Amino acid sequence: MRIVFRPQATRAQIDRVEKLLQQLRFRYRRSQTADGTVIGVVGDTALLTERHVQDMPGVALVAPFTVPYKQASREYSPSSTVVQVGPVRIGGSDVVVMAGPCSVESHEGLFAVARRVKAAGASILRGGAFKPRTSPYSFQGLGREGLELLRAASDATGMVVVTEVMDTRHVDLVAQYADILQIGARNVQNFDLLREVGASGKPVLLKRGLMTTIEEYLLCAEYILATGNEQVMLCERGIRTFETVTRNTLDVCAVPVIHRLSHLPILVDPSHATGEWRYVLPMARAAVAAGADGLMIEVHPDPANAFSDGPQSLTPEHFDQLMREVAPMAGALGRKLDRVPIRSRGDGA
Ligand code: PEP
Ligand code: MN
Repeated sequence: MRIVFRPQATRAQIDRVEKLLQQLRFRYRRSQTADGTVIGVVGDTALLTERHVQDMPGVALVAPFTVPYKQASREYSPSSTVVQVGPVRIGGSDVVVMAGPCSVESHEGLFAVARRVKAAGASILRGGAFKPRTSPYSFQGLGREGLELLRAASDATGMVVVTEVMDTRHVDLVAQYADILQIGARNVQNFDLLREVGASGKPVLLKRGLMTTIEEYLLCAEYILATGNEQVMLCERGIRTFETVTRNTLDVCAVPVIHRLSHLPILVDPSHATGEWRYVLPMARAAVAAGADGLMIEVHPDPANAFSDGPQSLTPEHFDQLMREVAPMAGALGRKLDRVPIRSRGDGA
């Protein structure tokens, strides 16, 4: 339910309604729009009717949500969500870049990539320690050792770290090492896992599934939000279509659609969307031009010998080029590529 106030409603009138919501222990969010204040509310909203909130001074309208993904919707919060992770703001005016290898393979390789992508302007280090592989015989990730390496590379470079958690039994473990918990495309509708990462209280990067519609996807985000964890970021990473030339089909239009329907930040991963490094650059430009709040890019020092996703991994040189090409796209929209001045601990980077 949303409570829309009259443009001329006074602060005291709005505060009075807010106080009632607090007394009744509702979850709510207050936003300021060009037309006035809106408060989105979830819970047993019949109570609000009983209390005649619609007749309280300053209130113009009390209306039910028109969409099933309540807290994820713009109706709940007309103001965009900005997720703050350490020094990095995701969903604000900067376009943030998450970059790193598909899988964490070795200390040397990870540190080399971390230094390079940081130098190019990325503020978030990515890397998989638990890998969702199509074949059970493919490299499955280094597990805890991979998490330790990620933490060490993150501490050395001052980068924020994001990594995937695949299993409810590993949420606590991954949360000890990572700043952001990633839910992969294949687990987007693993509702128990969504509840568990929500309850961890950590920021969550929720990737779109290969086969999820945007409405289903926003309902997945709703599972996390329903736990009270509001730090949710979305990521379009390509969907499965009849086209086979690329690994998936990047749904660039999901970016403006999600911005209209939801207040959550939406990033784009052109690496998994295309499956081929040569298409990653143009799709990264397209994503930023479409208004994406950030990018996730796979980078490997030696893609030909990567343990996973080598064909779609950029060399550090190509990543430098990507950052140079994307910056003006962000600038054209009055944004800038995130280059948060980040601390360095003795890596000389
Ligand atoms: C990944 O980012 O490491 C990954 C496996 O991506 P996705 O879940 O989008 O396939
Ligand atoms: Mn990958």
